[in-house]
Amino acid sequence: MLHSNYSVNGEGHFTLCGADTVKLAEKYGTPLYLLDENDIVKQCRIYRNAVKKYFSEKSAIYYASKALSIKEIYRIIEKEDINADVVSLGELYTAIKAGYTPSRLCMHGNNKTPEEIRAALGYGVGSFVVECFDELDSISEIASDMGVTAKILLRITPNIDCHTLEAISTGKLDSKFGVPIETGQAEKFVERALSLPHLDLIGYHCHCGSQVFEHEPYLDQLEVMMVFAADMKKKFGYAPEYLNIGGGFGVRYNESEGEIDIDGSIKLIGEKLTELCERFSLERPHVFMEPGRSIVASAGVTLYTVGSVKNIGDFRTYVTVDGGMSDNPRYALYKARYDALIANKANMPKDIVCSIAGRCCESGDLIGEDMPLQSAERGDILAVTVTGAYNYSMASNYNRVARPAIVVIKDGEDRLAVRRETLDNIIENDI
Ligand SMILES: *Cc1c(COP(=O)(O)O)cnc(C)c1O
Repeated sequence: MLHSNYSVNGEGHFTLCGADTVKLAEKYGTPLYLLDENDIVKQCRIYRNAVKKYFSEKSAIYYASKALSIKEIYRIIEKEDINADVVSLGELYTAIKAGYTPSRLCMHGNNKTPEEIRAALGYGVGSFVVECFDELDSISEIASDMGVTAKILLRITPNIDCHTLEAISTGKLDSKFGVPIETGQAEKFVERALSLPHLDLIGYHCHCGSQVFEHEPYLDQLEVMMVFAADMKKKFGYAPEYLNIGGGFGVRYNESEGEIDIDGSIKLIGEKLTELCERFSLERPHVFMEPGRSIVASAGVTLYTVGSVKNIGDFRTYVTVDGGMSDNPRYALYKARYDALIANKANMPKDIVCSIAGRCCESGDLIGEDMPLQSAERGDILAVTVTGAYNYSMASNYNRVARPAIVVIKDGEDRLAVRRETLDNIIENDI
């Protein structure tokens, strides 16, 4: 199957990490998100071991919280020595309330409010990635007000095309993220950061996009950043202690995609860094990476109950489920493709091709189109795989649909990590 934690048991039921998904659907109801803890731990270790081995002991992984920010995830990753990026007060608060060590956090986001900056400094987050001049001044003022010094990295736009979807590409010159080199603004950015007393510039940050399967964009990006670092050293005598090269390693969502060799790619990036440091006579910086989806995506499966199967002659077959864009908006947003199967018929051949539709009042409320599937009928359990990232975190209450629960599986044992929303949750803020 798509990932090694997916299998089929003797009853012909789809299993995640050995747990029978049909039984879990019965126990917890649908729609339901499942999350395989062992798989998350495996991904954390691959990344952490690789950065320590190919970069340095002080190099680290910052999990990009936006992929899935729930208390349980912070408990799992902290045990694996993984740091985290947070982008909003909500993600910051979730991590803090989970008991996560504040100094492991990096405050990110392309428009941090004064309230967020103040809260982050108050909790004692380890660092900030600064996106623009206004923010630089704002962090400096608030830090000065509070009598503290903020450690910062400057987000530089590398102007790299990383061959991914437009919606998840972030590294081009005219991106809303970061400050570009070509226009001379990045140089001014460094100059200004160095001049402000309550800021401690510890390095540079860049991120070219998501769902990147090749390592070339990372090597190109590294080269751009090191050329820039060498230039800044010449101009201001400043060399970065840390270089954050972003996240975005691709995830295998479909059979047609390959599996990315994370360790092998990081090794190549490490070699390139050595070569660039020698070429520019720069001291080797410690490296941060910030994967999101590749930590949690393959750990996740979503279960639905099939409500209807509608055949429109030779045109199309709709299989409608009890969830949809409210728990997974990614096909509706940017045509992200997923695989699905009927969990209680996992041994049977996929003999139909269908559109999987949700229950929201939008024709675009689809999990996918042209999807091969076992012949389905009302009452079947439909599983969509590789939904650990950007599903729960992007879920909404559209049509006042309640968000599903999240159940974590560890060594075949299941436990509730997030309760299903109730009807009272849905109206609780209505006056
Ligand atoms: C989204 C994002 C990431 C993580 O991307 P993934 O594709 O989930 O790995 C990392 N860094 C930044 C700055 C991002 O915006």
